[in-house]
Amino acid sequence: MQPPPPKPGVPGAQPGYSPFSQPPTSQNQPLAPPGSQRPVQPWQQPPPGQGQPFRSAGNFVSAPGPPTGGPPGVLPGSGPPLTGARPAGPPGAFIPGHNAPPPPFARQPPGPPPPSGFRPAGPPPLTMGAVLGQGPPHGPPQGTGLAPPPPMGSTFSQAPPSGRIPGFPTQVAPGPPPTSGPYINAPPSLGQPQFAGQSMQPPSFGPPSQTRLNQFTAPPPLGTAQQAPPQSAPPFGPPPSYYGAPSPTSTPLQAPPPPTAGYGYDPTMRGLPEEFQSLSMVPLPGSMDAAVDPSALPRPADDIEPAASTWAANCHPRYLRLTCNSLPNAQSLVARWHLPLGAVVHPLAEAPPGEEVPVVNFGATSIVRCRRCRTYINAYVTFTDGGRRWRCNVCVLLNEVPVEYFCPLDANGKRKDADKRPELSQSSVEFVAPTEYMVRPPMPPVYFFLIDVSASAIRTGMLQIACDTIKASLDNLPGYPRTQIGFITFDSALHFYNLKSTLTQPQMMVVAELDDPFLPMPDDLLVNLSESRTVVEAMLDSLPAMFQNNLNVESALGPALKAAFMVMSQLGGKLLVFQSTLPSLGVGRLKLRGEDPRIYGTDKEYSLRVTEEQFYKQMAADFSKYQIAVNVYAFAAKYTDLASLGTLAKYTGGQVIHYPGFQAHTLREKFTYELGRDLTRETAWEAVMRIRCGKGVRFSTFHGHFMLRSSDLMALPAVDCDKAFAMQLTLEDTLLTTQTLYFQVALLYTSSSGERRIRVHTMAAPVTSEIGEMYRSADVGAIASLMSRLAIEKSLTSKLEDCRQAGQSRLVRALREYKNLFAVQYRTTGRLIYPESLKLLPLYVLAINKSLALRGGFHEVSVDERSAAAFEMMTMPVTRLQRYLYPSLYRIDDYLYKTAKIKADPVDLPTSLPLSAERLDPRGAYLYNDGLCFVLWVGKVVPADFIGLLYGSEAAQAPDSSKAVVVEQDNDLSRRFIAVLNTLREKNTALYQECLLVLKSCC
Ligand SMILES: [Zn+2]
Repeated sequence: MQPPPPKPGVPGAQPGYSPFSQPPTSQNQPLAPPGSQRPVQPWQQPPPGQGQPFRSAGNFVSAPGPPTGGPPGVLPGSGPPLTGARPAGPPGAFIPGHNAPPPPFARQPPGPPPPSGFRPAGPPPLTMGAVLGQGPPHGPPQGTGLAPPPPMGSTFSQAPPSGRIPGFPTQVAPGPPPTSGPYINAPPSLGQPQFAGQSMQPPSFGPPSQTRLNQFTAPPPLGTAQQAPPQSAPPFGPPPSYYGAPSPTSTPLQAPPPPTAGYGYDPTMRGLPEEFQSLSMVPLPGSMDAAVDPSALPRPADDIEPAASTWAANCHPRYLRLTCNSLPNAQSLVARWHLPLGAVVHPLAEAPPGEEVPVVNFGATSIVRCRRCRTYINAYVTFTDGGRRWRCNVCVLLNEVPVEYFCPLDANGKRKDADKRPELSQSSVEFVAPTEYMVRPPMPPVYFFLIDVSASAIRTGMLQIACDTIKASLDNLPGYPRTQIGFITFDSALHFYNLKSTLTQPQMMVVAELDDPFLPMPDDLLVNLSESRTVVEAMLDSLPAMFQNNLNVESALGPALKAAFMVMSQLGGKLLVFQSTLPSLGVGRLKLRGEDPRIYGTDKEYSLRVTEEQFYKQMAADFSKYQIAVNVYAFAAKYTDLASLGTLAKYTGGQVIHYPGFQAHTLREKFTYELGRDLTRETAWEAVMRIRCGKGVRFSTFHGHFMLRSSDLMALPAVDCDKAFAMQLTLEDTLLTTQTLYFQVALLYTSSSGERRIRVHTMAAPVTSEIGEMYRSADVGAIASLMSRLAIEKSLTSKLEDCRQAGQSRLVRALREYKNLFAVQYRTTGRLIYPESLKLLPLYVLAINKSLALRGGFHEVSVDERSAAAFEMMTMPVTRLQRYLYPSLYRIDDYLYKTAKIKADPVDLPTSLPLSAERLDPRGAYLYNDGLCFVLWVGKVVPADFIGLLYGSEAAQAPDSSKAVVVEQDNDLSRRFIAVLNTLREKNTALYQECLLVLKSCC
């Protein structure tokens, strides 16, 4: 397929500045004009239903201050359809002065001595290199000797605690959508290499290019160096009490045996955390029982929400978490750590009411950023020189404060307006981006639907529910009145719909040409929703009836994708693909290759989990390049090669939603909710994301759904509040000399309301030379998140057995390292010992290995279900993953009987039980919740009327409980049960958890 020929650049744009190709114009788009010789069958729509007036706007962000988005008059809601020729994007002009060469006062005298503060006085050789996060990372120190320690007149209302940072890393802020991409980059004049030039190249899957698929790079080799870390004092505040009182969070299950000798003397013990836990692995004296006491196993608490960082200036951990909140200062320490070192970013995480990310609008002024490393001004920068200069916390460069941003300092060296400015007092802010951050006008929200109308889509009821849900969501699609919408349906042919607003009924055109699909008309396939609302509704009303007798079982998905691409490539947007069967016609047809058990256990096993069809990779690259995100809804009962279909979502920031064996009567609510949420949730369009960090470290590998553009810039055509990303950190220097490392995530995007925004999350973490400090500061949730992603990526190149083994041996190495620290001091024979912070890691690693994505072989999990689970886990935020790995379990029958009479909320569930078969009483009923679904497990001796009360008498007698659906019955027990389910659903809004019924008697 030839995509619309990309233009090599935006006229007038600075070469290399715009990473986005110019949208093709209608002139160069290979559209077949109407009336061409291709076979087009006009079709007249049956009388439409009455349209409803378009009501609500759906902007997910308010736009305080004057909008700085698209230039006035561009992309007006009432404007002409945007499928025509578009104005060329404005040149990537920088605000004068913003990209000017650094002012001539790079050499600054040190600021006044710090009145107080958390930095030790001894100025480390702070020689932060030029660039963070891009370009020749950390090139030769440009400011060697120039950078005095930051003055302590900081913006903190109070100095951070001198101890370790127990909190988690902060969050990531979304930025304005990348219509042009390199917004986050420094201007070329700063000498930073631009990725834009390369991004203009056509995507290639051959030799490495700048536009490449996110790499599944193997984790950096973990050496086995055992040398002790430098024995310097912890750089961050006083040394911890090595043999002193345990930390308040530590509650050892069993006290360590007393040391035999050398207590307190062995210098190798320095820095070792005293507080650890242990588990006996040998039978207790006099006991014949097995080694491990199950009741002593550590298990997650009900509340797995991370605590906020104790550094007030750090962003909330819902946005950004580090796997270890004290960073190792040396390679040798990294080698001893053994676990992944990195971060999990959830840039658009939903915040509870009152904690929304504040919006900052600098108006006509440019956003204040470090002119060297491009860090956004944040709560960690310090002001000096009476408020005329500020020191970048990441690269320590002194920057001039723009005149219009000036504010005098108070006696403590703090800006007098610091508390009033969110960017100086909070670490999650959203900047309104001026025009220099765009190379084309902000795009409108675009929703394009590619719907399978083959026989199975009709038979299962999928088409009917999809049409009903889309119609019901029209009022809530974000971006009114600019929102655009369009449809293509397909079976063995492609069906296009003319939705021109002046029509009274939609017109359907059928294209049977699959080898070289074309658009039967250039315009009106993608229309402004508010203008064409009546026609769109008429179409949705009539689609199910139109195909209700369709017996066509073929699926020309590939040609349909190419056609959708042609329609969408001028604007970008979200493409929702509804697929009910294995694609069988045209390019991209797929083979039944997942049903051969013999391939398991061989070196070819992995090939089932990746696509064989280059077409899907190529389409994914094209989609990403033209700002199109693909969500794949898969409904088939049989093999549909989700590994191939999901490729479209994987590289475009999309999502795979799998309903194996979809039937309307069991999965209607789930599908309705999830499609509705997909259509109405907060979405950031044409986004790019980058995470910056201090000198000496860099993010080297990235894991999730995106396309990597340049070495560290993630392209996200659309990103929403349900997606998280992970990345691994690499030490570049042998020894870090800084005492604090800063991280800043910037997500540049277009809001649904058409504003360019940059969401920025900033956090700081201390650098340590003590392995003990690392153990104290470990974040087991973030570690599990990274380990699960690494294991899944490994499963795309290796046997499942090898993936499970890899995670397990990594865990063993880490725990052995920890145990070695104690070997001299304590009698540890027969005991598993582990730090408090990592007490759940063995459990999580086991759970990862037992997850759908990794467990068993051919017979345990179907290939498609395995792929779907893997796609899900690759985008899951940390807390959802933790719930998925270790679900909660409640004894529900007692609770329901006890509380059925209570009408009032809230539902206050009992404490969850350990997930252990011995806990299941055959007289009881249990509710299991893994965040994806509920399971009601009913014991063998539970009275039959219990099921009847909850599911109705019919379901209680049905031979197959798997089809039972919870519907409210006319009794208190049922109402209470529904209330319990709904309460749990409210805590997990990302998807809809249906409730499966398992009757022990039929198992
Ligand atoms: Zn800087």
